[in-house]
Amino acid sequence: MRKNLLILFFTISSQAVISQTTVIRNPEIAQMVSEISSDSLEHHVRTLASFNSRHTLSTNEENGMPAAQRYVLSKFNHFAKQSGGRMTAEIEKFTIPGDKRRILEDSPGANVIATLTGTDPKDDRIFIISAHMDSRNKDVMDSAGSSPGANDDGSGTAAVIELARVMASHEFSATIIFVAFTGEEQGLKGATYLADKAIEEEWNIAAVLNNDIVGNSSSSETLIKDNLKMRVFSETIPASETEQEGNIRRYTNADNDSKSRQLARYIKELGERYVDQFEVKLIYRADRFLRGGDQTPFARNAFTAVRISEMNENFIHQHENVRLEDGIQYGDLPEFMDFEYLRKVSAVNLASLASLANSPDQPQEVKIDVRGLSNKSTLLWSAPAIGKVKGYYVLMRETSSAMWERKFWTTETTLTLPYSKDNYFFAIQTVSESGAESLPVFPTPLSR
Ligand SMILES: [Zn+2]
Repeated sequence: MRKNLLILFFTISSQAVISQTTVIRNPEIAQMVSEISSDSLEHHVRTLASFNSRHTLSTNEENGMPAAQRYVLSKFNHFAKQSGGRMTAEIEKFTIPGDKRRILEDSPGANVIATLTGTDPKDDRIFIISAHMDSRNKDVMDSAGSSPGANDDGSGTAAVIELARVMASHEFSATIIFVAFTGEEQGLKGATYLADKAIEEEWNIAAVLNNDIVGNSSSSETLIKDNLKMRVFSETIPASETEQEGNIRRYTNADNDSKSRQLARYIKELGERYVDQFEVKLIYRADRFLRGGDQTPFARNAFTAVRISEMNENFIHQHENVRLEDGIQYGDLPEFMDFEYLRKVSAVNLASLASLANSPDQPQEVKIDVRGLSNKSTLLWSAPAIGKVKGYYVLMRETSSAMWERKFWTTETTLTLPYSKDNYFFAIQTVSESGAESLPVFPTPLSR
């Protein structure tokens, strides 16, 4: 009885938070969300797991990583036919530098990439959805032994493939890159390659949604079965923070407002707006203890990047050799996955990505006026160069709150609110004609 009461309380509390920020669902995004199919996802996971190994250094052309990569490429190329020439796909080969750790000597590697070019030639933003298609077993250097990698990270790879299918025929202002990385288990090699290339070629990467281990809903040890929640990990103090940025963060108390944290909140809001019976949990960490992910090379280079993961992990089915021991089946096999759960995680990704890629760029020069003592708050900003802006939301929350709690609408580029700047946090986001919101920008101080 007591347990039921507790659940009821949390449900009401959670809905109350959602209702304050909920706006009307965009019909096109709602339609795309409804097209995500657990059957398609299951098919991709089972196919990926059917290759003997997707180890980064697996060279078996028929039954190893090269064959799996050709499978992903064939899917991308098939979906590209629906894109009116806007989607192209390739297996991008590169050399993974030897590190004397998990890559002993320089070795060939390849990411599989589909690019859906944006419809606005002036919009140079790139949104990335990623997962890693390489797998491993207990011995991370075993490139020949069986390693089905159904959930880690066949699940994320399937989500990337499914989003490419659903989104290929739709138009987005910005460019979306769908990528299946290699080398994650050997030290984030494929993501490091792409992040380095993005820096060198000055790509305007606006956000990275990295999906890793997203298709299981039952925990080991604690035996929780729950397909109602997922996690978004976002860094608190940015790995790339400069001394000057650190000074501003301390002065404005923006410790909970990194760019990646804003993206995590956005994913929670959009995911819960479009996906029923699902809660997105914000985890205030860059990743889990002892583990990492492909969001990290992007975050290190000051890009906005988060890790999306399932709520309850099952360590009997991760990085384990496939074997039966004491009546327990070990190994990362499709039979232990929950494809309806994977559908919901994929849908959260789609809702967030579709909204971001059709939003105007973020507001520029976002400032909060701190030049005097006042019980009001004045915010100032300028319009972005990219995208047509219908107006702006000024977001507000208690300094102790995790999520934005109020949205004030304006078509001006300044707003004074009768709430003290000392007692609340604020941010600004742009809104398109169709209602797509940009990522919020936390203001820097306008001082004397
Ligand atoms: Zn993984």
